[in-house]
Amino acid sequence: MSAPEAGVFERLSALAAIDAPGDRQRKTIAETFTGKPLGSVPIGTSEDVAVAIDKARVAQAEWAARPVTERAAVVQRYRALVVEHRHFLMDVLQAETGKARWAAQEEVMGLMFAARYFSEAAPRLLSPHKVPGAFPVLNRAAVRYQSKGVVGIIAPWNYPMLLSIGDSIPALIAGNAVVAKPDSQTPFAALAGVELLYRAGLPRDLLAVVPGPGTVVGTAIVEGCDYLMFTGSSETGRGLAERCGRRLIGFSAELGGKNPMIVTKGADLNKAAKAAVRACFSNAGQLCISIERLYVEQEVEAEFTEKFIAAVNAARLGASYDYSTDIGSLISEAQLEKVSKHVADATSKGAKVLTGGASRPDLGPLFFEPTVLTGVTEEMECFRDETFGPLVSIYPVDSIEEAVRSANDTDYGLNASVWAASKSAGERIAAQLHAGTVCVDEGYAPAWGTTAAPMGGMGISGVGRRHGPQGLLKYTEPQSVVVTRYLNLDPPRLFPRDLWQPFLMAIARGLRHLPGR
Ligand code: NAP
Repeated sequence: MSAPEAGVFERLSALAAIDAPGDRQRKTIAETFTGKPLGSVPIGTSEDVAVAIDKARVAQAEWAARPVTERAAVVQRYRALVVEHRHFLMDVLQAETGKARWAAQEEVMGLMFAARYFSEAAPRLLSPHKVPGAFPVLNRAAVRYQSKGVVGIIAPWNYPMLLSIGDSIPALIAGNAVVAKPDSQTPFAALAGVELLYRAGLPRDLLAVVPGPGTVVGTAIVEGCDYLMFTGSSETGRGLAERCGRRLIGFSAELGGKNPMIVTKGADLNKAAKAAVRACFSNAGQLCISIERLYVEQEVEAEFTEKFIAAVNAARLGASYDYSTDIGSLISEAQLEKVSKHVADATSKGAKVLTGGASRPDLGPLFFEPTVLTGVTEEMECFRDETFGPLVSIYPVDSIEEAVRSANDTDYGLNASVWAASKSAGERIAAQLHAGTVCVDEGYAPAWGTTAAPMGGMGISGVGRRHGPQGLLKYTEPQSVVVTRYLNLDPPRLFPRDLWQPFLMAIARGLRHLPGR
């Protein structure tokens, strides 16, 4: 198996929404495993975004008028196409990002889960529902959900199909149009994802993918959209939030993480050690919810560490388009530099490398060994800063209380993992953690895959949630329609005027006896 042929990338590049007049420069995308060119995409401009938004507004008006079930049906057809073309999607993802096959599969499964949950849940969640009116009998009240209009999506490179097209799914089902900007390093993943949506029957203008730099295309999207969904670094997220704030449009974001795993005595150490390898090194650690800090109770620290290191050493690092490797490549020179810098900084200040610690140019230009450190202290960069690479530190702790305190000692709050003596003990620890998702007896995948539950970050890890009802309803404007019947708030003709206000107050006081008040 190998990367798709050049013709595939040519076909995909033609799907980029580059519709303003004039010539465009092109950006060549290289196969991460080898550095060889795969193909090129046109570099979009702010005029392309303006055209895409104009067209999206026209298409959205017609789309929003269709019943939710019809919109959901398009997404159900899309899901079937994703299943049918899963190998192709994984090939594109691997070629562009250099991730291992199973990590590409996780991304494709994420698309399938999102398509299924939102297409099934949306008709119920978006249907108008009755609520008690201010005054019983006199007021009939219902909440309806209007779409926002044009949703902007700015996506990163690490899960480039899921975080662009996957995030478009709830926005589209909620009746919006979408203008999406993929990361400049990974436009083909988004284009391969959108190709199948068009084939499933989504009107072309309803979802435009405009490749190009964040400072140009991203800026134009923020200035023109009605709501922004962003995934990326906390720093960029903060800047985008400010701009959305100035425009008074809604914003949600999933940002960085410095995620902890807690292992207590009594936990199944064999399972914990094996699962920790996936939790720390999935997509070579370039996953916002992957684990970078391991807090292990003293009594089991030596045994856990031995098992964990054995499992890390057994993990197969390499470039392959099949399931024969466990860990793939980093995506860029910048990522390789950052990981190398964190390791060099920690070791120069006294941290010990238990395994890994070096780049592997023999495997490909951007490979770095899965690396485990011990003796990491506050003054080392990797103590607090997100590495976003295959680097994890083990910290022995004296008690569960210390583990929880240390796990929460971060500005981030995205994901956490707990391995304890029992499921209920794990759940008790989970309740004390400052993290948007917590996995008991796993690392991250079940929380990510549970699309019926909200997913997102506390602290500087994000604003708002994807998945779950919140992940759909954020793309809507709730509208409350309250109908007044029989009498309005003026006194009836024969009612004494000076008794009317005390009468209303008496009713208001009595309302507490009615259900729902
Ligand atoms: P980044 O620099 O924030 O870039 C993410 C996206 O934002 C890219 O499409 C980028 O465009 C765009 N962008 C950058 N500057 C912009 C600006 N001024 N205006 C508008 N758009 C702009 O993120 P990164 O460093 O490449 O990605 C890694 C980070 O993302 C990590 O910190 C990681 O934790 C976080 N992340 C979080 C999640 C999550 O779900 N929580 C998922 C993935 C990644 P260009 O690069 O094309 O210019």
